[in-house]
Amino acid sequence: MNDLFDLKGKVAVVTGANTGLGQGMCKALASAGADIAGVARRDCSETKALVEKEGVKFLEVIADLSSTEPCERILKEVLDAYGHVDILVNNAGIIKREDAIDFSLESWDSVINVNLRTVFYLSQVFARQFVKQGNGGKIISTASMLSYQGGIRVPAYTASKSAILGLTRALANEWAKYDINVNGIAPGYMATNNTAQLRDDEKRSEEILGRIPAGRWGTPDDMAGAVIFLASKASDYVNGFTIAVDGGWLAR
Ligand code: NAP
Repeated sequence: MNDLFDLKGKVAVVTGANTGLGQGMCKALASAGADIAGVARRDCSETKALVEKEGVKFLEVIADLSSTEPCERILKEVLDAYGHVDILVNNAGIIKREDAIDFSLESWDSVINVNLRTVFYLSQVFARQFVKQGNGGKIISTASMLSYQGGIRVPAYTASKSAILGLTRALANEWAKYDINVNGIAPGYMATNNTAQLRDDEKRSEEILGRIPAGRWGTPDDMAGAVIFLASKASDYVNGFTIAVDGGWLAR
């Protein structure tokens, strides 16, 4: 039974690996036996230590994902180090909070570029490699509650994360024939840098907490079960689906 979730011998690439949910997912995939390549625009030494504690390898790939420019290099660095790749986790993302009436196109472009444009292109680069290798692959993208809801003061973020839900389905439809599973994880309200502003606002923080059936903010460790499932053999017949890890937020 445990073989279903065993990632020994697999190589997983996780973007936004230096902190937050990306760090949590690196740790989780390492605990299931995968070697990790952590993509980030800054030092990943904390993640490296957590991953190596699990007895697997960690490769740091420094890249700024605000453009698609580094995507081929990321793949090359991973292949140079590990020889093959099996799992891509598109996790890096940004959020800009501003009233929609004033929201600048500059903010719009920066959010859409990291959260959507690069996710599409990196997925394409890795999917081509999976096809070349001939053993399938797993692509997992981080969606959001705002893949389902409108949100407040975050129009570009909502647009990008709603698009991730659709893109996950679209890519899954076309790539299932190559044994590539494309799925998503929609985290609820998790205590990371992404939500620092919300948690600092006492009123908003109380409103949010009051609506979470589990009665607490999520943590990076809460991502472990879903990411291991979607990265492993256990999900071989799961295609184009986004799993909520939200303490019941969407069930309300
Ligand atoms: P976070 O702590 O802010 O992490 C975001 C990660 O993305 C960081 O590693 C960040 O690097 C990286 N990143 C941002 N822009 C980048 C760029 N241009 N190039 C390379 N890396 C870049 O927040 P988080 O909550 O862990 O977010 C992870 C993902 O979960 C995001 O896609 C976010 O939208 C999504 N999410 C979060 C929540 C939540 O409640 N926290 C809920 C739903 C979805 P730096 O450290 O260098 O900025």
